[in-house]
Amino acid sequence: MSQQKHEHEIVMVGMVNVNRDNYLQGTVDVWRCRGCKKLFCDDKRYGEPLKPSVGFEEVPEDEQWAILTCTDIKEVYMMSLGVKPGKRIAHTCKNGTAHEFLVGDDWSIPPDDGPSVHRLFLVKDNINKVIEAGFYKLRMMG
Ligand SMILES: [Zn+2]
Ligand SMILES: [Zn+2]
Repeated sequence: MSQQKHEHEIVMVGMVNVNRDNYLQGTVDVWRCRGCKKLFCDDKRYGEPLKPSVGFEEVPEDEQWAILTCTDIKEVYMMSLGVKPGKRIAHTCKNGTAHEFLVGDDWSIPPDDGPSVHRLFLVKDNINKVIEAGFYKLRMMG
């Protein structure tokens, strides 16, 4: 093993699209280092200006990139974040309702379906796929 600090060599591997009833709500661009295979994510939400590029965010070694979706009857909000079993995720819906989710051993969050529905999707399982996060679709998923 080299003692040198590893320099990531990052290439794009694809994207995850988040839809609401077939309408694109946002995209997470997924990048991977050719060396250490670490993933990097970058959110692009429909209708929001692109944030200035600040380089690639990393998640800790024991975490995985996931996408949290927040769906109400009218829209879907999504964001990427690092998760691991046992981690608590603080999230506030657009309407101001605060939630805290505990990530389970199966890397999902318990359903707390009310006026808004929240789900957690692992990025590595959804690269170049579409997450259908419409209100009724998610509720059917249970
Ligand atoms: Zn690397
Ligand atoms: Zn929410």
